[in-house]
Amino acid sequence: MRPWSYSRLSTYEDCPKQYWYSYVENMPGFRPKSVAASRGSEIHDKAEQYLIGKLPMYPPELQKVSGHAMALKMKKPQAELKLAVDCNWAPCDYKDENAYLRGIIDILYLEGEHLHIQDWKTGQVYASHPTQMENYVAIAAAHFPEATHYITRLVYVDQGIVTPPKTTAAERLKPIRLLLDGRIKNAEDDTIFPTTPGAGCKWCDYSKKYGGPCQY
Ligand code: SF4
Repeated sequence: MRPWSYSRLSTYEDCPKQYWYSYVENMPGFRPKSVAASRGSEIHDKAEQYLIGKLPMYPPELQKVSGHAMALKMKKPQAELKLAVDCNWAPCDYKDENAYLRGIIDILYLEGEHLHIQDWKTGQVYASHPTQMENYVAIAAAHFPEATHYITRLVYVDQGIVTPPKTTAAERLKPIRLLLDGRIKNAEDDTIFPTTPGAGCKWCDYSKKYGGPCQY
């Protein structure tokens, strides 16, 4: 089941059966590829190109957050940075066979002892997004031991919203990681992978409505 990621773990917690189909069986999804998902990937690509200087001008999709994007570029951040940790929360290569938890961080830069982590978001604002940022803090902190504080922000490009900086001190790492360990253990101990029908079924790649194997 390893390596885990924010999306794997949240898929498991939303519906273990969906996780089973997707990540254990590696079953291709039955739902037609959504326009929103393709658009999100395209905007992430363009934003990365802009931040690393391959696009001289911010892409039009970032118009509503253009001031923030330009300020970010001045910081010379790393973009789409692939990071991983092993089960002892020590840094490891993203492709390491012992990787325990991985993440791709859209925007990261270090200022003194402050590690800044930000994420481009397309589409709706979800309550789970701050949890995703905590996952990234837990991973990135292992790679930047000189940092004492982690400052996270979410950049909603469609709404033109940049969330206020949220500061997490290094002392918070232990409880954040313990919680993640517990969630991962809960998933790894599962031998049944029950169906959990709910609101997510309408987007599920394995729903019978798209010709998938699940009865819901
Ligand atoms: S359709 Fe619903 S119950 Fe079935 S696998 Fe998907 S999310 Fe789970």
